[in-house]
Amino acid sequence: MTSRDRIPLAGVIGSPVAHSKSPRIFRHWLTRFGVRGHYIPMDVAENDLEAAIRALPKLGFVGVNVTIPHKERVLEIADLVTERAELTGSANTLTFRDDGMVHADSTDGCGFMENLRSNAAEWNPAQGPAAILGAGGAARAVIASLLNAGVEEIRLSNRTRTRSENLRREFGARVRVHDWSEAGDMLTGAKTVVNATSLGMAGNDELSVPLGALSGDAVVTDLVYVPLETEFLAQARRTGCQTVDGLGMLLFQAAPGFESWFGIRPHVDDQLRQAVLS
Ligand code: NAP
Repeated sequence: MTSRDRIPLAGVIGSPVAHSKSPRIFRHWLTRFGVRGHYIPMDVAENDLEAAIRALPKLGFVGVNVTIPHKERVLEIADLVTERAELTGSANTLTFRDDGMVHADSTDGCGFMENLRSNAAEWNPAQGPAAILGAGGAARAVIASLLNAGVEEIRLSNRTRTRSENLRREFGARVRVHDWSEAGDMLTGAKTVVNATSLGMAGNDELSVPLGALSGDAVVTDLVYVPLETEFLAQARRTGCQTVDGLGMLLFQAAPGFESWFGIRPHVDDQLRQAVLS
């Protein structure tokens, strides 16, 4: 059997992985576009990661998404790493090339930006500063994409201050660090506000940063998407802000992988949202 006769396989590797919504996204697209292929969630332990990645192409896999806790480690295993994955310090999309090379890419930043642009059509990076709460892996992708889009000033606050200081060192003077105890103050005049912490997610504490300084012309987005409208977004909406939930980022970040593995650029639309939420 030649590789052309094989039904292409893709999937997501993480641990745990049962919660992942990626299978719903990919299965929706595979059905919608009538593509022969399968998408499989795979729980892979840290110690087995490299062996699994090297074995998957031999089993007919054309690529995989990568989720927690492997997103950073896969950069060391991949043979080729895109500039944006390098900048983000992690990868969520691996493509197994015909020449045997493992290609690692990070699509979180472009997923974030496409979500923002499609759901807040008036959003403009030149409007003013962005305020980001959180300095983990996702915040890093958000900072890189906002700077790349042309936002002049990024105000950054994180519970563990050293993590935001590290990002400031990495991304330069357009990033300004604020203490977590004063995170509410950095919202004054901010035109883009992002919750990039895991606070507000079902089962976690709520984000308790005071939103009194938020102005009604800010676009506010949350990376958390369970629940779809976090308390943070609900409060911002009541202030009059336009709000964008985090589910769209998840959907948009999946599109480049589908395109490189199955050859079709898929749509992110309401049908997909409903398929993932159902
Ligand atoms: P991470 O690297 O583990 O970072 C977690 C962040 O949350 C850190 O800034 C951490 O602060 C902060 N945090 C956690 N508990 C806190 C608490 N009790 N008080 C204050 N801050 C707290 O995770 P990540 O990968 O960046 O992900 C962050 C969130 O984004 C998660 O909810 C994740 O599901 C979501 N996400 C969504 C998408 C999407 O497609 N929508 C994509 C990626 C991530 P410390 O540094 O002080 O610990």
